[in-house]
Amino acid sequence: MTLTDVSRPARGSNSAVDRVALETAATTRLLEAEGILDYSGHVSARIPGRDAFVIQIGSTSRAEVSPESMLVVDYDGKVLEGDGQPPSELPIHLEILKARPDVQSVLHSHMELAIAFTMMEGVKLLPMRARASRWKSGIPTDPDPSHIKLAEQGRALARTLGPHHAVLMRAHGLCLVAESVQALFIDAVHFKENATAQMQALQAGAKPIPLTEAEIEQIERMEMRDWHIKKLWNYYVRKALDEDVLQQEWADDLVPTKDMLKRDRVLK
Ligand SMILES: [Zn+2]
Repeated sequence: MTLTDVSRPARGSNSAVDRVALETAATTRLLEAEGILDYSGHVSARIPGRDAFVIQIGSTSRAEVSPESMLVVDYDGKVLEGDGQPPSELPIHLEILKARPDVQSVLHSHMELAIAFTMMEGVKLLPMRARASRWKSGIPTDPDPSHIKLAEQGRALARTLGPHHAVLMRAHGLCLVAESVQALFIDAVHFKENATAQMQALQAGAKPIPLTEAEIEQIERMEMRDWHIKKLWNYYVRKALDEDVLQQEWADDLVPTKDMLKRDRVLK
């Protein structure tokens, strides 16, 4: 097979794979700009209507990922389209996506703040800030401190994640899962804010006071997750376009329209 045979078609056909590749590439750059990804870490997202997902080439700079360079990979880990090798920790994505049909997108990051919470005796990362009600069911820690390069390690990680939306990885990093790549990005921003808040309380010498069950119930009565995601996506995409973190020619496909930003639920 020649390189031409495996290259993805040029953008513009507006297919599901082009759409997902663009959103995943943009999200990777946004996460890098927010200090959640750096020289490593990755995002995967399922392609609607296909038994496959997109993920970046392992060696590509997270600040320069483009939709054209994204790989299409099946659930056996085989590269179907694209010219390059997936990240060596691909089993993280394979095994979580296989174990969790409700999940559309997976982030693996070596976020330092998250790692810190796997290295302190008697301290657990807990929902502190309002937006952290997302992790009310718990944030388990996987005990394997090595890089996840084997299927069995990936399966063990997926078992630790269980039904939750986040899992810490001992001395290594974290994974987040969400219903869309945009939601995954917004969750990552809030995950970092929450870990920062708890760390600041600890550094002040105080005992952190996490959200109570009653407080979480109250927060969730007011929740407008879909609209909140669109609002923050709009903010971060526009900011990144202004700062040339994202390419200007992606703007029409990434910036939400006015109609998309209308709240669909009014609280009375
Ligand atoms: Zn890793």
